[in-house]
Amino acid sequence: MAPHRVGIIGFGKIAQDQHLPAIRANPDFELLAVSSQRGLSPEDAKYTFVDYREMLKLPDLDAVAICTPPQVRHDIAKQALQAGKSALLEKPPAATLSELEDLKRIASSARKTLFTAWHAQHNDGVDAAAKALQGQAIKRLLITWKEDVRQWHPGQQWIWQAGGFGIFDPGINALSILTRIAPQPIFIKQATLEFPANRDAPIAASLVFASGSVGEDLRAEFDWRQTGPQTWDIEIDTAAGQHLLLTKGAARLEFDGKVVVDETPAEYTGVYQQFDTLLKAGTSDVEDMPFRLVADAFMIGKRVPVEAFED
Ligand code: NAP
Repeated sequence: MAPHRVGIIGFGKIAQDQHLPAIRANPDFELLAVSSQRGLSPEDAKYTFVDYREMLKLPDLDAVAICTPPQVRHDIAKQALQAGKSALLEKPPAATLSELEDLKRIASSARKTLFTAWHAQHNDGVDAAAKALQGQAIKRLLITWKEDVRQWHPGQQWIWQAGGFGIFDPGINALSILTRIAPQPIFIKQATLEFPANRDAPIAASLVFASGSVGEDLRAEFDWRQTGPQTWDIEIDTAAGQHLLLTKGAARLEFDGKVVVDETPAEYTGVYQQFDTLLKAGTSDVEDMPFRLVADAFMIGKRVPVEAFED
């Protein structure tokens, strides 16, 4: 089968660091075009555009990877689907739940593939943890997702604007792992969001979850003010007394103190393998639970003003 001819929209950090190498390394894809408002282009892209709408006119283009900030994703994805192109949505998949629902409807009526790419789910520890937790009840959960915003989002202003999600931009990765491995549905019970005095998005968040088990203690701590190495850990005790520790963003899993997975992260290899499978099958994969948890945290969260943050 001929490779899927793909175009990248928004040639920023994630497009350059992850999408480009993953596309180049996968023979099921051919990089046909890149659309960059700044006119950036890798030398192997056959076409380059400054306006993505021009790129969507390419008859040979099969699919696009939308690597922009989330605030503009719905508009771009809608036009792509209506132009007959399949779409991979970087996370968070849109700015609101209603937008994502709209894209699902449009993809279905256009008979095109729509894919919410939750990259963190493609770490090897995720499937192994999901298997280990099958049929279990989680008694204690502690997610610790702390990193240095200056290292991971240098100079990015959109993440601090309304609709940029602030600390939930990385935090949603942890939630996408949680919703994949949890044996029962998980809900937000309480949330505290810390907003710097000069920003419209939170720099830190504390979440309390509920899943309905008696005596459960389920929490998450997200913080962008950690300097030095990041912490991307998920610790779980089950009611049956098992202990799971996912570290390195779920590339490493310890089960009852024994290391059962320890991989070099290759998340975007998995993302594009899944996109290929969906494109070949002509189906969509739109998973909204991680996004719903973030929306719920904003909906019921207590807002606490904290010290202004300067880049
Ligand atoms: P970024 O470096 O700011 O890149 C986003 C790019 O999108 C910009 O450089 C710009 O590229 C384009 N863009 C900006 N505003 C636009 C608009 N109004 N219309 C069309 N294009 C626009 O951000 P990023 O870190 O790559 O993040 C992009 C998405 O990937 C976010 O949703 C983020 O959560 C997700 N993500 C990021 C990371 C990470 O580690 N950074 C990891 C996984 C996922 P051009 O000037 O080239 O058009």
